[in-house]
Amino acid sequence: MLKRGSTIGILGGGQLGRMMATSAAQLGYRVIGYAPEGDNVMDSLAEGFVTADWDDSAALADFAARCDAVTWEFENVPVATACSIPGQAIFPDPRALETAQDRLNEKRFIEDLGGRPASYAKVDSTHDLIAAVDRLGAPGILKTRRDGYDGKGQWRIGNGREAEALRVPDTPCIYETFVEFDAEFSVILVRSRDGEIRFWDSTRNEHRDGILAASHFPAGEVISAQIDEARELARKVADALEYVGVLTLEFFATHEGPIFNEMAPRVHNSGHWTIEGAATSQFENHIRAVAGLPLGDTRTTAAEVEMRNILGSDIENAHATLTDARLHLHDYGKAEASEGRKMGHVTLITLDTRS
Ligand code: AMP
Repeated sequence: MLKRGSTIGILGGGQLGRMMATSAAQLGYRVIGYAPEGDNVMDSLAEGFVTADWDDSAALADFAARCDAVTWEFENVPVATACSIPGQAIFPDPRALETAQDRLNEKRFIEDLGGRPASYAKVDSTHDLIAAVDRLGAPGILKTRRDGYDGKGQWRIGNGREAEALRVPDTPCIYETFVEFDAEFSVILVRSRDGEIRFWDSTRNEHRDGILAASHFPAGEVISAQIDEARELARKVADALEYVGVLTLEFFATHEGPIFNEMAPRVHNSGHWTIEGAATSQFENHIRAVAGLPLGDTRTTAAEVEMRNILGSDIENAHATLTDARLHLHDYGKAEASEGRKMGHVTLITLDTRS
């Protein structure tokens, strides 16, 4: 268990790290961040922030020496970077990064544990893509195996002709068939150093242009009926990886039950509502797990919750929307409000639907 005043290092400098740093400070820990040059909005809340490349071994060794434990807030931290932190000090185990960073590895791993992803095929050329569409059918989506997020690195394919016309990027890809889903949801859990697992309630997640727009609780009957099966898979994933911290799995709710979409070995945008809507937030429980503290209660404390992301220049008007006392605003403090960029979120908490 980390003593008060210990230092937790966070790899990555974005809003997830910023919210983690807030929880770490509340629990009496110091935080140091590490990320390459960029709009690292965590730095204002951290005691120290190292701006260096992921492969700067001297800077990494210096960072690790200053930390009592290290975690990450960004799933594309190179595995080699995470592995350079001494084994006893990094949580979760970097194996989780390795599994989740490559969509092909991730899907195979999930299938080995009995989960069901959309039908997929490895694609390295236009020829592979045409063969995949021929074999698995269309519509579908071509996705880069690595570095995709918020719908980036994805191309929709309606039929074989579109596959022939598409210039397949010069990077390993995967083709997956389009899932006819009723709704999307995520399962977010926290696993402690001694293997205890707690789940938060699942929300119904609404995506627009591949980006999460909103999360809603209660999630509705269609999703509720599929949560047990989805949780069973998430538990297997966490145990198989001897995971420590918060882990997220995203699913499509379909007529055939939950279809696995992807996993994130970290706190997740669809769990931001837990800051005000659950007894213990995903950020606090992640820090508790990393620090070796007992986990907090994950139960939902509100009757209804809605979290909405604020993208781009909409952040300029965010304070003016706080006329409803049930709203909570989180402004990530990003300097550049480019279109589609996640700048903040609001959470609408309804404690009692009768009033
Ligand atoms: P991803 O980055 O893979 O999670 O994709 C972002 C969003 O695109 C998902 O949350 C879905 O809304 C949509 N999407 C991705 N893959 C599929 C699929 N195979 N079938 C249907 N929708 C998908």
